[in-house]
Amino acid sequence: MPELPEVEGVLRALQPIVTGKTINSVVVSETIYRSKANGKEAIIKGLDVEQFCLALAGAKIDHLERRSKYIYFHLLKNGYPYMLVSHLGMSGAWFSVKNLHEITEDKFRKHAHVTLYFEEGDMLVYADIRRFGELRFLETEADYPPLLLMAPEPFDQYALDHFLHMSALPKYENKAIKEFIMDGHIVSGCGNIYATEALFRMRIHPARKVKRISRERKIQLFQEIVIVLLDSIENGGSTISDYRTINGGAGNMQNRLQMYGKKECLVCCSKTKQKTIGGRTSTYCPACQK
Ligand SMILES: [Zn+2]
Repeated sequence: MPELPEVEGVLRALQPIVTGKTINSVVVSETIYRSKANGKEAIIKGLDVEQFCLALAGAKIDHLERRSKYIYFHLLKNGYPYMLVSHLGMSGAWFSVKNLHEITEDKFRKHAHVTLYFEEGDMLVYADIRRFGELRFLETEADYPPLLLMAPEPFDQYALDHFLHMSALPKYENKAIKEFIMDGHIVSGCGNIYATEALFRMRIHPARKVKRISRERKIQLFQEIVIVLLDSIENGGSTISDYRTINGGAGNMQNRLQMYGKKECLVCCSKTKQKTIGGRTSTYCPACQK
């Protein structure tokens, strides 16, 4: 699943391509029509397909913003601001092409679900193999309240205070630290890969309870999360499973990971262990991480 650095990579690639363009029309796949007709909400959330397409037609993309793992397309239509909010789910990807054949990987081309046709002649295609991604047309963030509950961006000056404050709340103090840092209300955009890495670099066992970690160590851990996220952004994110940067590109961060997906600890050569924490598989070194 793409985490903050991967979404940042998509944003940076999209920005110069789509900013200032006007959506002429929107085409949605049969699969999505069928899913919506069956009462399921595949990809397009909130509105029905016709409403969604009508809402976007004629909108100009004013600017883009990343918030946690979401991309906000800030739109202007008839002088009013709107948003198209995109979440890539497990395997969503954006392609900027002139026609669908330019999407070279079969598995993405076959799963092209939403196509934005621009007045400028090109198009932006949202493809999603597993269909866990989301697209929402909103007037403001308040139209989808979970957006208002996200932790501050990890690079914001208040993010550490927020993290420390939450760690002291009774509802979190007995949680496993890994589950805590992967909670989007606590830290924005830190999923399994970067939580695993930050805990390994800090030599903290992923199942350790939040209250069993000193304030000083919590501050260091938060700083380590920020360092790992920034390192990954600089290296184009981790290309694992079905994550692609725009137009099918790949990142390099997977080659820099020290613990995620490893069979052996790079520091002490012990066999790594796996444990399910908060419903997610956690890899750690039983010798190095206490
Ligand atoms: Zn080790």
